[in-house]
Amino acid sequence: MTGHRPPRYDVAIVGAGPVGSVCALAHARGGARVALLEANNGAPRRLAGEWLHPPAVRTLRDFGLDLGSAPDSSEGKGFVVFPEDGGDPIMLPYPGSSLGLSCEHAVIVSSLHEAVANEPGIDFMPGARVREVERERLTFTRNGAVQSVTAGRTVGADGRSSVVRRSLGLSTSPKTCSLMVGILLEDVELPVDGYGHMLCGGPGPILMYPLGGNRVRVLLDVPRERWARPDRVEVMASSCGALLPEALRPSFVQALRSGEYSVAANGVKPRISYGHPGRVLVGDAAGHYHPLTGVGMTLGFGDALALAESDDFNEFARGRVQATRAPELLAIGVYEAFADRRDEAVVLRQAVYRSWRTAPAVRDRTTRLLACEDTSTVRLGFAFGLTVVRAILAVVRRSRDERAWPWARETLRSLVVRLWWLWRGFRLAYKARSAGGGGDERARRVLARALLVSMRSRTDETGFSADGSGVRAFKSE
Ligand SMILES: Cc1cc2nc3c(=O)[nH]c(=O)nc-3n(C[C@H](O)[C@H](O)[C@H](O)COP(=O)(O)OP(=O)(O)OC[C@H]3O[C@@H](n4cnc5c(N)ncnc54)[C@H](O)[C@@H]3O)c2cc1C
Repeated sequence: MTGHRPPRYDVAIVGAGPVGSVCALAHARGGARVALLEANNGAPRRLAGEWLHPPAVRTLRDFGLDLGSAPDSSEGKGFVVFPEDGGDPIMLPYPGSSLGLSCEHAVIVSSLHEAVANEPGIDFMPGARVREVERERLTFTRNGAVQSVTAGRTVGADGRSSVVRRSLGLSTSPKTCSLMVGILLEDVELPVDGYGHMLCGGPGPILMYPLGGNRVRVLLDVPRERWARPDRVEVMASSCGALLPEALRPSFVQALRSGEYSVAANGVKPRISYGHPGRVLVGDAAGHYHPLTGVGMTLGFGDALALAESDDFNEFARGRVQATRAPELLAIGVYEAFADRRDEAVVLRQAVYRSWRTAPAVRDRTTRLLACEDTSTVRLGFAFGLTVVRAILAVVRRSRDERAWPWARETLRSLVVRLWWLWRGFRLAYKARSAGGGGDERARRVLARALLVSMRSRTDETGFSADGSGVRAFKSE
């Protein structure tokens, strides 16, 4: 390692996941000399992001990657929600002619790796694990040897356990909300072609989307305590299986029983800091949320493009705070409302269903916000405020019945307390961001008081038994 000067680059990017790879392409196309270091050649095979919202699809296309033509992908027209109240499914199509895409994570990342390997300005170093980040120097191990590079700027695109983030003195321990169990079903079709499906009414929300060639990914959100039970497979097979369309049930149960599934932890870490001009965080290293709204890659690609296009770090950080605040609030809010079975969450969820059912404009706004095409916190706040008012009115209406009084009082109290901690948490997070990252832990602690992840276990409250009783069966149109 000693004796000769380490190679020098304009930018050294740690992590060649989807965001690091896009970041490398964006910098190289802007004329920078880039080193891209990736520790784990097997990383793309893990259970991770497969749904790309329209802006992310456009980004990939701009770099010449047309995943839509890959046999392992499907176009994403939007979402369809199957509420637990037994009512008709609610369609949430992307507005206009926008299209998203679903594609196996490994295919997304390997296509990007092919692109970075062929890009003249990028030195792609698979198998290079960065061990130390100090000033302009990165020290890494590769093929058993210790090596280093220097760069004017280091970019941490190294995901949730980011070594670059740690080098900035920021915490890398996220709050784990739940686990995601992923199953790939072959030779099956979803009820609504080209749509991501969300089924409500189980122990946690269930997501399903097509992956091309009659393959369907099923993602079960499972509370951690539930997954710790010895009879977890049977419990999931029955309680979640009962919610699935009949045609999918046999292969779903078979896959679970034969252990053909992958598990990933769902963490929450609000974005507080992007680092400093010489050491910048992007993608999951900057922050991440429960994958229910599928915004991880879309926001990460936005970080990568904004960083490559900006000459001024402060301007970049300000721009990203603006652009990511609404998707962040939405990701946290949607998980809170759709994964919880406490009364205050149920009344909120029912208010959301009512708004979607009665107002096309609300459906349209929801998909714009989900797709990160609309990043206005004012519009999101307005929509959220209306939903809360609707939820409160519904509780008040029920409280006219004297017997429902104690329930109404307790539900309203819980709703107000939770909203209060949420509001305080986001205010502190905002202050911490403005202060450049200080106060990160305090904001997290306060926010956590409103978050499902830090609340009492839901296992005893789900009311689902191993035989699946209590589960609303799938209702097709
Ligand atoms: C179950 C699940 C489902 C999801 N679904 C969606 C979805 O549908 N849509 C969506 O947009 N997002 C989704 N996400 C989130 C999405 O996967 C992430 O936001 C995305 O992968 C983040 O990309 P990244 O490049 O920032 O980080 P990562 O994908 O984590 O990549 C980081 C890379 O850095 C490498 N690395 C780490 N440490 C080092 C080191 N010291 N030296 C060198 N390299 C290092 C890792 O090996 C890895 O390749 C989901 C996540 C989960 C868990």
